[in-house]
Amino acid sequence: MNRFNVRRVAVLGAGVMGAQIAAHLVNVKVPVVLFDLPAKDGPKNGIVTKAVEGLKKLKPAPLGVPEDAALIQQANYEEHLDQLKDCDLVIEAIAERMDWKLDLYRKIAPFIAPHAILASNTSGLSITKLSEAVPAEIRPRFCGIHFFNPPRYMALVELIPTPTTDAEILDQLETFCTTTLGKGVVHAKDTPNFIANRVGIAGMLATMIEAEKYGLSYDVVDDLTGKKMGRASSGTFRTADVVGLDTMAHVIKTMQDNLQSDPFYATYKTPTVLGRLIEQGALGQKTGAGFYKKAGKDILRLDAGKGEYVASGGKAEPIVDRMLKKPAAERLKLLRESTHPQAQFVWAILRDSFHYCAVHLAEIAASARHIDFAMRRGFGTQQGPFELWQAAGWKQVAHWVREDINAGKALCNAPLPDWVFDGRDGVHTADGSWSASQRRYLPLEPLEVYLRQPFPETLVGWNATEALKSGTEEFRNDEVRVWTLDGEVLIASITAKLHLISPTVAEGLGRALEIAEARYQGLVIWSPDDVFSAGANLEALLPVFMKSGAKGIKPEMKKFQDFILRLRYAQVPTVAAVRGLALGGGLELAMACSRRVAHMESYMGFVEVGVGLVPGAGGLAYIARRAHELATASGANADLFAFLKEPFTSAAMARVGTSAIEGRKLGYLIDGDVIVPHKDELLHVAAAQVRAMADSGYRPPHKALFPVAGRSAIATIKGQLTNLRDGGFASAHDFHIASLIAEVVCGGDVDAGSLVNEEYLMTLERDRFCALLEHPKTQERIMGMLQTGKPVRN
Ligand code: NAD
Repeated sequence: MNRFNVRRVAVLGAGVMGAQIAAHLVNVKVPVVLFDLPAKDGPKNGIVTKAVEGLKKLKPAPLGVPEDAALIQQANYEEHLDQLKDCDLVIEAIAERMDWKLDLYRKIAPFIAPHAILASNTSGLSITKLSEAVPAEIRPRFCGIHFFNPPRYMALVELIPTPTTDAEILDQLETFCTTTLGKGVVHAKDTPNFIANRVGIAGMLATMIEAEKYGLSYDVVDDLTGKKMGRASSGTFRTADVVGLDTMAHVIKTMQDNLQSDPFYATYKTPTVLGRLIEQGALGQKTGAGFYKKAGKDILRLDAGKGEYVASGGKAEPIVDRMLKKPAAERLKLLRESTHPQAQFVWAILRDSFHYCAVHLAEIAASARHIDFAMRRGFGTQQGPFELWQAAGWKQVAHWVREDINAGKALCNAPLPDWVFDGRDGVHTADGSWSASQRRYLPLEPLEVYLRQPFPETLVGWNATEALKSGTEEFRNDEVRVWTLDGEVLIASITAKLHLISPTVAEGLGRALEIAEARYQGLVIWSPDDVFSAGANLEALLPVFMKSGAKGIKPEMKKFQDFILRLRYAQVPTVAAVRGLALGGGLELAMACSRRVAHMESYMGFVEVGVGLVPGAGGLAYIARRAHELATASGANADLFAFLKEPFTSAAMARVGTSAIEGRKLGYLIDGDVIVPHKDELLHVAAAQVRAMADSGYRPPHKALFPVAGRSAIATIKGQLTNLRDGGFASAHDFHIASLIAEVVCGGDVDAGSLVNEEYLMTLERDRFCALLEHPKTQERIMGMLQTGKPVRN
């Protein structure tokens, strides 16, 4: 395959989607120019400027750090079309009108580079019809690229070819979307609403129809169809409110207008209550009312019968709740056989979804994999519909669905396709997933981008080996598995809950380091789940504390600090593969490694203050040493204090970076560290870093003394802290903890410029950490956190 270099991307349309897609491109370091119509008044880029400003305030944040909004280049179609010539990819995301999109394509066509890809983010228009408006020479490079809102966070991107799209272009785009954008690509056929919205909205309509049939209120339906069914926690009606009822009606309309011969056509109509809400301007969350309405602190739900909002909070009946917790086969049997209306409702919507997906598979997707992944990535379900069906026993469920269709209980009488009954046990097998249109199993495309993922996302029936059961195991204890895939790079995986660091974890990691130094090129700390480590396991230390007080904790801390130093000065390169939470002790662990490879969605910070403590495993020693390194790098007479201020404040205020990009800004990641957009590439990249460092003759850093800012800096910081406390901005205990942090990062009661080492600073950390453990206010914070999981403010 030819290399597809994306030097610059143009996004056309600075609306909800276009602006956020541009933001995500900036997050992943792709230069981007964002276009919109010229403003009628004021500067011509006015529309884009406003959209870019809006990105800084939008929640959830589309940008890793708000100031990166400045990296989005602003343009309009009147003055800047020339700029399209330098773009390798053009993503069109203007309003959903065929005529407007076609007009725009005509306008931009002369400026599109001969090799560039042009792709539309349309949600429902025919990609093939759109392609007909572009000149013949662009047509092979035209396709659909359907992002989901919010594009930074939603994993799904649907790629939709037309009959004239060049296959290589699609592979290139898939590779770019995966590695560079970190997305999970699904191939969709060019049918109305593609896959996720087609199946998802049909499912929501079915849910609304069945809810009415079984007489269930919206809150009960949402409780049943949320987490309890392994779906997004907002359930059905709240999801509709969040998406916007007008948007939902728009998607339904696309189905009404284009799917007249669909056997489910009768269900594609805007439910009466939805239509009424839209008429009243109650469009969901954005207008403050929809199926739900906020009244002060209360959330009210609409009572469709009465036409008024009433108290909400209805839940699933305990008996149904218990059924939903059973394994798939038992669950579906119990639900179907129960006479409880809630159980019958749940069975009915599952049956409807199996029926719908089986009938439509051939028409909308290349294989069942694309439907299941689309629902997982686009609607946040734990399992796709086919997976659930297969896990519950294919033949039995098929029989039940057929019985219901024959009995007139299903949404339509379209029979299940014949392939459902050909003796199979499912649609996903070790050889691939069933393609109803090609009548064979299709394996995952052998694209390089997937081959390099050691443990790609998998489906029921593929029989993929779980990461933690893979490779060759070198050692394991109750909370750490030490293993290798290739005999060269050793992997340590923490398996404890939230990967909290206990003495058992420390022992396991210590053992991993010994093995790596003896026989491997290096060590990666990686786990297959969405957390690196949420910090120290305070509960595990509780028995020691109860028995011997802080005195008993000190030697345990010293042991972990010694390990942290062993890690930093290990004879082999060590890489922390960070994803999700890296908090407190977890962050200190990552910072002690030779390098960090962090997934974009990593949340890093010293949060010890929340439990009334100070970082105690080298985090503060790190801040002191790093301030010296940065000061030295910036010039001979640089002021050490200037490089302490920000990291001190971050630790004292428990600032958490809400992306790897922000983590870098806060100093938790440094220049040589790598940010990886796709979660499934993390292990590959981390192992590659180990190999590269080993190949280049890795040596641990020099152990050297370094200067600290000393007592005068402590006095300055304490002065400022006093103002904060006296002004009522910090509690007395926060003031106390922050003062202790200041003492450690400045090196204690010594002259400015005194030379110290890390061991000395760690002694300061240890002393203060243990002194705080004895403090009643700290104890209150710790107990509060252990009991409620929430920080106590005292
Ligand atoms: P939007 O209404 O927020 O923004 C549309 C933008 O198009 C505006 O900035 C507007 O100035 C511009 N525009 C309007 N008329 C134009 C014209 N004639 N020529 C050029 N530009 C014009 O819309 P959106 O929600 O960002 O949707 C954009 C596209 O993305 C649509 O095709 C939509 O179907 C699709 N989409 C939307 C979502 C979503 O959740 N909003 C999700 C996926 C895909």
